[in-house]
Amino acid sequence: MSLIVQKFGGSSVADAEGINRVAARVLETRNAGNDVVVVVSAMGDTTDELLDLADQVTKAGPAREMDMLLSSGERISMALLAMAIESKGGNAVSFTGSQAGMFTDAIHGRARIVEVAPSRVRRALDRGMVAIVAGFQGMSREDNNITTMGRGGSDTPAVALAAALAADVCEIYTDVDRVYSANPPLVPNSHKHKPFTTK
Ligand code: ASP
Ligand code: MG
Repeated sequence: MSLIVQKFGGSSVADAEGINRVAARVLETRNAGNDVVVVVSAMGDTTDELLDLADQVTKAGPAREMDMLLSSGERISMALLAMAIESKGGNAVSFTGSQAGMFTDAIHGRARIVEVAPSRVRRALDRGMVAIVAGFQGMSREDNNITTMGRGGSDTPAVALAAALAADVCEIYTDVDRVYSANPPLVPNSHKHKPFTTK
């Protein structure tokens, strides 16, 4: 029996179908007899939408409140994934970064992990549950405020958790629809490559 950390990016959990697909994949690993910890990103463009919303309210959102806002994206996906796993007959429990013992420095928006103390995650695994952890976020050791780790920052806590739990494997999953000629957000006229087929 192995302890496996699986991280799923926002495109993998972009809608209900994606969440159910990820739940099935997680359960497959769990039912093969492994302990499974899952780290999730926010659904699809959620983080961008939250940034846009904040921007409409004020151009100068306090950094602490920006992190409170942005960290909510990962909460949505972790809770829905736990529900999806339960609905398929599995047992799962979700944790925010702070509940999972992800301690950081106090730099909002680009916090760095200073310690991982995942005792609640460990206890959930000991009870046979799949533990789901919100990526991208932690809690400042100095003042207990919620912090985020910078855009695309969900891989880091997955790797840190894997190290802290002495996991056997850390798998990083991502789903994109197609390979692009360049990074689409940066290069507006990038184009999708034709799907590659063999005949
Ligand atoms: N949701 C965060 C972002 O979009 C973190 C991540 O996706 O890894 O930047
Ligand atoms: Mg994201």
